[in-house]
Amino acid sequence: MQILENLEQLTAYRQQRTGRVGFVPTMGALHAGHVSLVDIARQFSDDIIVSLFVNPTQFNEASDYEHYPRTFESDSAMCLAAGVDAVFCPPVEVMYPRDEVEVAVDVPALTRELEGEKRPGHFQGVCRVVAKLFNMVQPDVAVFGEKDYQQLAVIRAMVAGLAMPIQIIAGPTVREQDGLAMSSRNRRLSDEDRPKALGLYKALTRGVEMLTHAHETDAATVEAAMRDVMLAHEVEVEYAVVRDPVTLARLDLNDAQATREQNAVLLVAGRLGDVRLIDNMTCKISM
Ligand code: AMP
Repeated sequence: MQILENLEQLTAYRQQRTGRVGFVPTMGALHAGHVSLVDIARQFSDDIIVSLFVNPTQFNEASDYEHYPRTFESDSAMCLAAGVDAVFCPPVEVMYPRDEVEVAVDVPALTRELEGEKRPGHFQGVCRVVAKLFNMVQPDVAVFGEKDYQQLAVIRAMVAGLAMPIQIIAGPTVREQDGLAMSSRNRRLSDEDRPKALGLYKALTRGVEMLTHAHETDAATVEAAMRDVMLAHEVEVEYAVVRDPVTLARLDLNDAQATREQNAVLLVAGRLGDVRLIDNMTCKISM
């Protein structure tokens, strides 16, 4: 496995590849969720490049950026074990040279609400770094996790809207045994807060249960129930919503025009102390 730290090394490596190149962008602090994306990438490509880069432009809170776990040694060991061919781990100056003029890539229709609203500038930072990484790595295929559901929608829209010649594949959310979605931020949870974090998963399973088995048709009732589950776990709720899985718009489940079957995504975000967690689940609502 090659460790590439600058553009010269990356370009030289890329030019020698003759087959399909799969790409998994990450911010490091790797866990089994990231490894699952590498496994998916392998099905679509001959060479796999993983980037490890804690992107400063997507953090709207300085303390979140500073405290973000940085674990290069174990990350590179996990990549090696997962059969990754090259790791791209540039220092900040390589991604953002001092004299660079800022370029904005924006997908306004998908970023006004939810994470975009709670984390101003976050998706512009994500789009900026992903567009840049795509141009540097020139992958044929890139794999993103459904764990970051809105991010996946934004990336798909960016790739389609800017005609980037890259196939985007989604990987399902990998969870701990009790259901907590794996996240690099979980390792910052205190022993006391770890059981409380399950409130997000429990809220989602409750919401899905209401929509599928209990045939609840009032989105507000489902949203209130999800919020209650999170609050019962002492999670500070940022949002708990039922949305259209493609447009992320509000769903009117009572809409007579709606078909008898409707897909939905349930999205939650909350805080435990200074650790912010998000999760989501999709389901088919039968009315
Ligand atoms: P991050 O390092 O948090 O920026 O995440 C890098 C990629 O891994 C993103 O595409 C995430 O959606 C994905 N990812 C993070 N957590 C999980 C998980 N639990 N299961 C699957 N994919 C994940």
